[in-house]
Amino acid sequence: MQINLVSDTVTKPSYEMLQYMFNADVGDDVYKEDPTVNELEDRVAAIFGMEAGLFFPSGTMANQTAIKLHTQPSDQLIADKFAHIFHFEAGGVSFNSGVSCRLIEGKRGMITAEQVSAEINDPDFFHSPKTSLVCLENTTNLGGGACYEMEELEKIKEVCDEHGLKLHLDGARIWNALVAKRQNPKDFGKLFDTISVCFSKGLGAPVGSVLLGDKETIKRALRIRKVLGGAMRQSGYLAAGALYALENNIKLLTEDHRRAKELANVLKKKEWVAAVEPVETNILIFSLIPEYSDSVFIEKLKQKNISINAIGNRKLRMVTHLDYREVMHTYVLETLAKM
Ligand SMILES: *Cc1c(COP(=O)(O)O)cnc(C)c1O
Repeated sequence: MQINLVSDTVTKPSYEMLQYMFNADVGDDVYKEDPTVNELEDRVAAIFGMEAGLFFPSGTMANQTAIKLHTQPSDQLIADKFAHIFHFEAGGVSFNSGVSCRLIEGKRGMITAEQVSAEINDPDFFHSPKTSLVCLENTTNLGGGACYEMEELEKIKEVCDEHGLKLHLDGARIWNALVAKRQNPKDFGKLFDTISVCFSKGLGAPVGSVLLGDKETIKRALRIRKVLGGAMRQSGYLAAGALYALENNIKLLTEDHRRAKELANVLKKKEWVAAVEPVETNILIFSLIPEYSDSVFIEKLKQKNISINAIGNRKLRMVTHLDYREVMHTYVLETLAKM
């Protein structure tokens, strides 16, 4: 039994999901003639109460398209210092859009309206880049699966409106937030100009994200996706995996969240653990006391068939997911308790 807690992207499509993909009705999506892709785009847009959606091969491409949509070269965007768009999209913000990032020292990957307000450049001061976009992440990845309160998001939206800024949500794990906080997806749809949502993380599909926005914005996104090389043909087979995940796997996220909390509870009792960050969803970040080496600890777990990883600054991370099952969980809890 190999147990992989490195990421929620390690899941493989189940037999049932593959069966559903196998039976998908497909067409050429470059001509917008793939009924399954069209269905997915419409379904996800409806869930968030937004006008339109566009299927992407990755969350990175969906985010990069959103940034391109809302900015001009030389502009600046505002994001938390842990933002995926800054750390893990290979410098695409500057490569694709010619945009710089103003990074904010947030809490667990989340920033406040007050902080956003303080970082907006004076539009009349032509020496500074023009601030045109705010990018938020929910749940936060490097922030440890933390979720925003709706009130804070509303306040950030007010600041954006006041200053004519666009607001994008990197919702790679928005499903986790919706489940954990019992929030209404339509409330997110009302606040954001664009939202990217992912199907290959907690929902267990092999590939795919959808970018949401109004009709005019998504029409422009279609051209940017083409520029980035993201126009696919019979992609309905992939969209079918996402549709299956929407139907069957959202309800399983509560199990991931419970297991992450139980892992945290075991770690909190260990004298070799220095700190365990609060667990709200499926990501658990902790650190060892200075006397212990991260790499030795990771290796020790590996010998017991458990993979976890280090995310820098002496932080270790475990991520629960669809393929991390109860038998594995029981084994990991016991193994940690005995160490
Ligand atoms: C994984 C992730 C993405 C990008 O998704 P890919 O499909 O891997 O490109 C974007 N944002 C966050 C917060 C993520 O965790």
